[in-house]
Amino acid sequence: MSKENKLEKIVSLAKRRGFIFPGSEIYGGIGGFYDFGPLGAELKFNIKQAWWDAVVKERDDVVGLSAAIIMNPKVWEASGHVSGFSDPLVECKKCRKRFRADETETQKCPECGGELIKARNFNLMFKTFVGPVEGTASVAYLRPETAAGIFMNFKNVVDTMRVKMPFGIAQIGRAFRNEINPKDYVFRTREFEQMELEYFVKPGDDERAFKEWIDKRTTWYEKLGLKNIRKQEQSPEERAHYSKGTVDIEYEFPFGWKEIEGIANRSDFDLKSHSEHSGQDLSYTDKETGEKYLPYVIEPSAGVDRICLAFLCDAYAEEDKRVVLKLHPKLAPYKAAVFPLVANKPELVEKARQIFKELKATGLNIAWDDRGNIGKRYYSQDEIGTPYCITADYQTLEDGTVTIRDRDTAKQERISEREISGHL
Ligand code: ATP
Repeated sequence: MSKENKLEKIVSLAKRRGFIFPGSEIYGGIGGFYDFGPLGAELKFNIKQAWWDAVVKERDDVVGLSAAIIMNPKVWEASGHVSGFSDPLVECKKCRKRFRADETETQKCPECGGELIKARNFNLMFKTFVGPVEGTASVAYLRPETAAGIFMNFKNVVDTMRVKMPFGIAQIGRAFRNEINPKDYVFRTREFEQMELEYFVKPGDDERAFKEWIDKRTTWYEKLGLKNIRKQEQSPEERAHYSKGTVDIEYEFPFGWKEIEGIANRSDFDLKSHSEHSGQDLSYTDKETGEKYLPYVIEPSAGVDRICLAFLCDAYAEEDKRVVLKLHPKLAPYKAAVFPLVANKPELVEKARQIFKELKATGLNIAWDDRGNIGKRYYSQDEIGTPYCITADYQTLEDGTVTIRDRDTAKQERISEREISGHL
């Protein structure tokens, strides 16, 4: 299976099986927007849950936040986005198509071969208007990253949550960037979700925390079974001017090694700039020592949609005439599927239904299937990554045992009904 071929197969599987659909499809779609279908929504939810568990719930030094998408536009002046969040753009003289300057290697248009002319810098923020009057006074932006909402609430959290340095504020939410060339499926889109943590530390403690978060975030991917990842340190020329260090976690997609998460030591840039622009003192006072300072911040910033695609690519396998998504059970949309051996025996259907309902009552997402033959049902569940298939057959009615089939080995064993939830 070639690399291009693999991505095509994943796109087709994702559409056919309800993971990812092109946005507004019945109207011909809209570039850079995708909808996550029933199974994609589960996968995304499971990724976000695993992140929130590791970054917020399992720690005692990180709290969560859910800030508004639209903020006072002054936020984006202070953050540097109004003046600096732009990509250089070139335009083809002939077909008038526009491209990111850094993505065109020659002076020729990649589409029609026409001559490319330099255009302006293109700001990636989506503009909108707040209230009934459209004018410069009512301009606002859809946030291009979620982090700013965290800085807006730094003081609120310090004043209300009894947090002590070092501590973090985490947030998951939508971000919007009017990308010049959305491409590579859901890798680069114009609307996406981010999972961001701002971890505040006393200046001097930043190097330690930076290393800690690089390790923590790498381990998170490894524990969820993601292979083909590497860490890449950005050179001083590559990284943002305020950054003391940036390490990207990259995944080897069918279209090459690409960033799925960036971890940056942002120094005190954000709090300093927001203090200056707002006139509010955002420094922190240590209650025990009385010391007052502007904290440094370490920022692990990850994109849910990109990570979804990385897990789908990593999990996709073709073996013995079957397609199987070897997703980590924590991420799999369904944890198990329950079948009656045949659909035309009411006692069997009733028994299988009872097992299905009991498993669902434990809070797990369980699939039901009674169509076609068992082989087809296994194939269908393998393709969407369901780790176990449970079948109620004639023996179940006699001795209360079922067969349970493992997705990865395709092996079956018989266990008692009572053991099923423990097994899962
Ligand atoms: P790139 O260089 O690929 O545009 P970036 O360095 O601008 O990415 P960041 O600003 O560091 O990205 O954003 C943090 C994370 O948000 C990225 O690692 C990625 O997972 C996600 N992300 C950023 N832009 C997009 C996008 N257009 N579509 C999907 N995810 C995105």
